[in-house]
Formats: sequence, C-alpha cells, structure tokens
Amino acid sequence: MSVLNHAAPSAALSTAALAPRPSACPGLLRIVAARDGGICRIKLPGGALSAAQAAAIAEASERHAASVIEVTNRANLQVRGVRAGHEAALIEALVASGLGPAPATSSMDAAAVWSASAADDIRNVMVSPAAGRDSSALYDTTPLTAGLLGLLQGEARFAALSPKFALLLDGGERLARLDHPHDVWLAATPASDGVRFVFGLAGCPPTVANAVTNAAANAAANATDNAAADATAAHAAGNGSSDAPQDPVATGTRALAAVLPAEVVQLVRALLHTFLDLAAADATRMRHLLATHSVDAVLQRAQTYVDFPLSRDASLADWHRGAPADAALRLGAHPQRVAGTWHVGGQPPLGRLEAATLRGLAALARQHSNGTLRMTPWQSVLLPDIASEAVQAVLAELEGLGLACDPAQPLARLIACAGSTGCVKSLADTKADALRLAARLPDGVDVHLSGCPRSCAAAHCAPYTLLAVAPGTYDLYRRDASPDFGRCIAHRLTLEQAADMLEQLARSPF
Ligand code: SF4
Repeated sequence: MSVLNHAAPSAALSTAALAPRPSACPGLLRIVAARDGGICRIKLPGGALSAAQAAAIAEASERHAASVIEVTNRANLQVRGVRAGHEAALIEALVASGLGPAPATSSMDAAAVWSASAADDIRNVMVSPAAGRDSSALYDTTPLTAGLLGLLQGEARFAALSPKFALLLDGGERLARLDHPHDVWLAATPASDGVRFVFGLAGCPPTVANAVTNAAANAAANATDNAAADATAAHAAGNGSSDAPQDPVATGTRALAAVLPAEVVQLVRALLHTFLDLAAADATRMRHLLATHSVDAVLQRAQTYVDFPLSRDASLADWHRGAPADAALRLGAHPQRVAGTWHVGGQPPLGRLEAATLRGLAALARQHSNGTLRMTPWQSVLLPDIASEAVQAVLAELEGLGLACDPAQPLARLIACAGSTGCVKSLADTKADALRLAARLPDGVDVHLSGCPRSCAAAHCAPYTLLAVAPGTYDLYRRDASPDFGRCIAHRLTLEQAADMLEQLARSPF
C-alpha cells in the first residue's frame, strides 16, 4: 500500500485501497451457498434489533428460506436455507425492515448495492449485550458504539477492510465476552478524573482469565496464519453459526495507551487509516500488519491522524481489566442499573431458532421488554428492561419457547458448528451429536463440537472440544496452553465413549 495522505486520507487513494477485499463470508447482500441452501447474515448494531425487525426476519425466513435462524457468536443473526431464486426477495424484505447498512435503500442500483455491501461487511463492533444497563459498568458504551458504526460505514476507504476486521469496545460490564481476539480492542478503566479507554491491537483485553490463552495465542499466531487463509475456502463451502474473526489466536498486544472517551472514535479512525496505509495487499488482519511493522511504527503513523498524544504508555504494560466478566449473567434474570428493571436471557439449543420461536420472542419483547431484543456473542438472546413483576412470567415464556435459562442446563454448555447437514466440510453431524451428548453431559463441563478444524462455532478455545474425524467419531481435546483446541487427550471416540471420558474427567481432581 503506497498512498499516504495524512490530512484527508480518502481524497487520494489507490484503486486497491478502494476495492473491497474479496470475501466468502455471508452478508446481507451476499448470500453464500451451503449444503442446506443459502446463508444470509444480518449484522445487528450491538446485537440489538426491534421486535418488529425480529418478526420480519421470522416471516422472511419462512417465505424465502428454511425457517431456521441462527444467532452467531458475534451477536448477529443469519437466515439459513435460503431457497434458490428467493435471494433478492429475502434481501428486499430485510432491507425494508431497516436491517441493512446505513447507505442501503429499498431500491438500490448496482453502485448502491456495491456501496451498501461494503458498508455491511465492516459493521463489526462487539459490545456487551448489557451495555448501558449493567450496574458494574464503568461507562455506557452505547453512544460510542453508534459513533464507531457510523465511522465504519461513513468513509469509503474503509470498504477495503476485511469483513472479518473487528473492534471490541468494553465498558467494564460484568456481562462481557472478552475471549474473542479483535483487531482493535478498547476497554474502560478508572482514572482519577473519570474514565479512560485503554487499547490494544490484535488480541483481547488482558484479564487474569485469559492470560494463559493469550500466551498460547502469541506462540501460535504465526503458525496459524496460513491455516486461517486456507480456511476461507471452507467458509465458502458451508458456514457454521459463526461470523467471528475466523482465526482463534492472535499475536496480540498488551494495553498500549489510554485515551479519553471523547477521543475513542478519532483513535479508531486513525488506526484504521494506519492499517490501510501500511498493510500489504494480502494482509487482512491487524496481526498481519504487526508481523511486518512494530507497534511503535503503527502508533507513529496513527499519530499523524489525530491531534492528541498517541505513544505507548509504559505504565500500562501490566494493565489488566479490574473486574472479572461472568458469562452466566447472559441467562436467567439479573437486575439492571435502574432499580426495578431486569434483563432476562435464554439460550436457544445450539444457537438455532425456528421462525416461530423468533416470532414468539418478538411478542415477548413487545409485551414485557422495551420492544427490543439483544443477541449475545454466546449465541443467546437477552430481553432488557423487564419490570420486576414480569420477570417470572418472562422466564416461563422463554422456557416455554425452548430456551435454556439456567447456566447449569446441558444445552447452555454445548456449542456445535453447522455439521454435515449444513456444511460440506463436516465429517460428522455435529448438531445431532451435540443433542445426543446433552443427555449425558456431566455437570460443569462445557463442550464444543466441530465438524472440522475450522472451528466456525467458536472463536475462543472451549474447555473441551470434540473434533470430528468420521461420522459419530471424534478426537477429544482439553484446553491448556497449547494452540487451537488445546491438547488432544483421546482419539476416535464414539459419542458414548466421549461421554464416559468427560464424566471421568469431571470427577478427576486434576
Ligand atoms: S465443518 Fe463446521 S467448522 Fe468446519 S467449515 Fe463446516 S461449519 Fe465450519
């Protein structure tokens, strides 16, 4: 990438910088074929959608697809089984419901479709589903999230970013997913005069919990670069329930510096332009840039885009997020910051919703919530702003719709990719096998079933992973400091043998 223009980056750009990078990822305007039909991915701002939009998705999936909707591990939704010849009608229905990117209109010419498709691809900002409501949060990230989404969609140059390029904005909520590597992460931290956002590149905010994972990630990052690139082809062949960044490890940096909340959007803008200035044409992720440029070089270039100081702060070298996150808060009922209001959540089995279930959730949101739903990066659903007196009724309704509301339930502790019914790459029917395993899953054990090493269902390393090697046959991995799935501890297990072994492991003090 050779073009530099510090004052106005978008005013003098190479053709390459303006061209969206090729992608096999599904999007709203790019329906990708899979074994069970097309996949249409709907990116949701902060995981949020209105009840009317949820009902519209349910109806569109019935009319134009297989009536199956997945919650992805980036808190988006995707419609599976889109029927041949129905693609345009599906897209039109979704765009008409306000689910498209900012430039989208209900009647788009080719140029508008190109522009909207590029803007759609890069709407990747991960936040807590309880942002603005979590009483433990240091900062309400809701306005900043809107600012970042506007930034990503508002500058033509950012169309050159990979659809996998993603940001994490952590307001310090207890309900937060912090173990997915992001190209840029920002995390609120207390300061003597308020709050600052520390930031880092190509990794996760440091926590006590992810220290081991990060160490493994650092060691493995270079070794997995090629595998991640190869996996793009598999993505085209059939997609699981994930639109997370597809490489579960990253080079990662520790906290580099801190900025004021009012400087966050400018900082991210500077980092995005810096990435596009410096990255080679085949470098799609921040970790690729860090393989060829030092952190200091990146910050020096970013400095040219902002008028506040931007250099590495050595005092933050050992910064860790103060409060631990708790994923269990995504399920059941939990009080919000405003007294007398609660968020209530449930886990659809393996992240899949029938259209009728999504319609039921929309009705519940209209009746008891604020008319909106939140999808979460655990592939679950959260209803915000429930009044105290309605909590029990909402929990009962969620359970009636088939959602698990207790973190101890087996279906809250299992994830699985699309498997052989949806993906040509899969060596097993992971969805059906996961449901069979649920009947024998030991207490306290979390398991990820993956049809191939691509790991579409998990951008993190699960405590245990069953990696398919043949129909109904899996290798068992246990998370440790090793890269990818951890260490392989048993080969070619049947589901029954895997259940036996997990029971033994659950009983073992080691
Ligand atoms: S088999 Fe599963 S993990 Fe592999 S590409 Fe298909 S959906 Fe993804």
